[in-house]
Amino acid sequence: MKKTSGRELSRRQLLQTGFTVTAASLAGSLDLALPSLMYAQSAHTPDTALSELMAGNKRFTAGRLTAHDQDLVVLRQHTEEKQEPFAAVLSCADSRAPVELIFDQSIGHIFVTRIAGNLITPEIIGSLEYGAAVLGTKVILVMGHSNCGAVKATIQSKEVPGQISALFPHIQPAVNQSGSDLEAVTKANAKIQAALLRQSSTVISGMVTSGNVKVLAAYYQLGTGSVSVLE
Ligand SMILES: [Zn+2]
Repeated sequence: MKKTSGRELSRRQLLQTGFTVTAASLAGSLDLALPSLMYAQSAHTPDTALSELMAGNKRFTAGRLTAHDQDLVVLRQHTEEKQEPFAAVLSCADSRAPVELIFDQSIGHIFVTRIAGNLITPEIIGSLEYGAAVLGTKVILVMGHSNCGAVKATIQSKEVPGQISALFPHIQPAVNQSGSDLEAVTKANAKIQAALLRQSSTVISGMVTSGNVKVLAAYYQLGTGSVSVLE
C-alpha cells in the first residue's frame, strides 16, 4: 500500500473540512460569538514577544521564577472579562513540558494548545488562528521536546493499542527526512509542523507576511529545561 505522508494527509484533511476561511470571515464569525474579546492588542511585537518567552525560560533554568510572585487573585480578576496573551505555544501533551512553568508565565499570558507530537490539525489551526487574529498573540512557537514518546513510537512503527497510531502519519514525514535519530526527527517534526501551519492557514500566513506574527519551531530539552529556537 502506498504510504501517505503526514503533510499530504493533513492537507487533504484540511480541504475535506473546508478549511479555507479568510481573516475577514474568521473575524466576522468570532465577532458574533465573542464580541468582548475582539481585537485585543498586545503591546508586543513578534520579536519582543519571543524575547519575553526566552527571558522567562532563562529564569526557569536558573531557578529564579517570578510568575508565582504575582497576585493570582488580582490576575484572575483582571483577566475575567478579557485575555490578551502575547504568545501562543503548540506543545506536546507530554507531562514533562508544562508550558507556563517553563516560560515562567502566569494567568492570561500564553495561549497554549497541546497535542501528542505537537501536530498541526484543523482544530489546532483554528485555535491558533483565534489566538492570533482575535486575541493578538504575536509569536507562535511550535515546540517539540527531547525523549518524545510520540516521535519515538513513530520511528519504531510498532503495533500500538486503540487510535495511538493515528498520530504516526503526521510525524512520518520527519522520519522520512531524518531517519531514526530521535532528536533529529523531533526537531524536523517541529519545523515541518511550523511550516504546515504557515502554509495551511490563510489567516496566519497573511499575518506572517504583514509582519504581525512570527511562527517558529522550537525544541525543549527535558534534562536542562532550556528551550532553543530552531532555524
Ligand atoms: Zn512528546
